[in-house]
Amino acid sequence: MILYPHLDTNAEGHLTVGGMDTVELAREFGTPAYIMDEDVIRANCRTYLTAARAHFGADALPLYASKALCFTGIYRLVAEEGLGVDCVSGGELFTALRAGFPAERIYFHGNNKTDADLAMALDMGVGTIVVDNEDELDALHALARAKGKVQRILLRITPGIDPHTHRAIQTGNVDSKFGRAIATGQALEITKAALARTGVRPVGFHCHIGSQIFDIDPFRDAADIMVRFIAEVKRETGFEAEELNLGGGLGVPYLAEDRRIDYAAAVAEIAAIVRQNAADAGIRMPRIILEPGRSLVAAAGITLYTVGSVKEIPGFRNYVSVDGGMPDNPRYALYQSQYTALIANRASAPKDYRATVAGRCCESGDLIGENMPLQKPQRGDILAVLTTGAYNFAMASNYNRLPRPPVILVQGGKARVAVRRETYEDIVRNDLSE
Ligand SMILES: *Cc1c(COP(=O)(O)O)cnc(C)c1O
Repeated sequence: MILYPHLDTNAEGHLTVGGMDTVELAREFGTPAYIMDEDVIRANCRTYLTAARAHFGADALPLYASKALCFTGIYRLVAEEGLGVDCVSGGELFTALRAGFPAERIYFHGNNKTDADLAMALDMGVGTIVVDNEDELDALHALARAKGKVQRILLRITPGIDPHTHRAIQTGNVDSKFGRAIATGQALEITKAALARTGVRPVGFHCHIGSQIFDIDPFRDAADIMVRFIAEVKRETGFEAEELNLGGGLGVPYLAEDRRIDYAAAVAEIAAIVRQNAADAGIRMPRIILEPGRSLVAAAGITLYTVGSVKEIPGFRNYVSVDGGMPDNPRYALYQSQYTALIANRASAPKDYRATVAGRCCESGDLIGENMPLQKPQRGDILAVLTTGAYNFAMASNYNRLPRPPVILVQGGKARVAVRRETYEDIVRNDLSE
């Protein structure tokens, strides 16, 4: 096992994913390429669904936050597994629709949905729209009225929690582009406004406190604050929320030393916290929704690259350049995210070398990681970066006119292309020559 049980080495000392030789996969599909182990995604879906049904009730519906990894096939896979999805744009809605995803199981998020987005969601029959602000509330109300519809909604609330300092600070994180804050009184105001609009039917509240969180305490604080808010709304307006969506955010290990979360245990703990708080606050237990993204797909993915050059700068550091970089994984450039990398064709050899893994863009910040432990690399080696299932393909760009890599799904000893590699023709497709 290398970081995860589905990653290992074979007799040739090659890295395997789901039992398949990554060096063979690189030969067959080319590099750079995203390889995703379908069984891992399905198993993660089942873990959440089983735990949610056991602890939240039979009607529990975990949502896959599809911004983490978005293509047509993933919506089919998630639909088969019985989850709902969270979409955050017209493009994601369109992809879900194209995949035949059941619209009633879609939650539509975003802090600035356009009128076109809202009309599209209404026309598609999207089950729930998570309303972010008063402007959106008014626009949705008007559009729904014009279409003769009453849209089921949640209201996005800012509970004021900084998940990384592990403290609930009522005024902290009130400064957010998302939702309306409890601390300023604006959460109660938008609730009253929503209850007065006939084009929408509010059923509850949503919050999302952050991402890559390893601690249950911020969720405990969020559940506590949100349940007290539900009780306050009931006192002030008589409206008792039937649904509480606590967002996503549970973390995954990127490095061997990172903590590992038992997701089923986390679901059980969140349910117990909400149940206790609801009893204390004198409200009925709301239907709890969780919407994990990263923890469903990140571990499933690896990215394979071919090493192009190895540059040793005496007294400084070593650079290994690969045939991808920030266009296929911008996360180091964006927020210095740490990854585990290895030489896939010598995966059993000791990592006795350190190198900064650089991409091929004309940009000094185009790095996958700095001073990463590696097997000693040479031109032609296959370099694998692990845990790239979430926020890599989804964030990919064509910077420097690099075609985006394919997404290859492996399952049961077979590999199939889920998203084909872009071609240079794809890249110029929308350029008008006149
Ligand atoms: C990004 C996001 C998620 C998923 O977050 P992860 O950290 O990937 O689990 C869920 N809900 C909302 C509203 C989000 O913005």
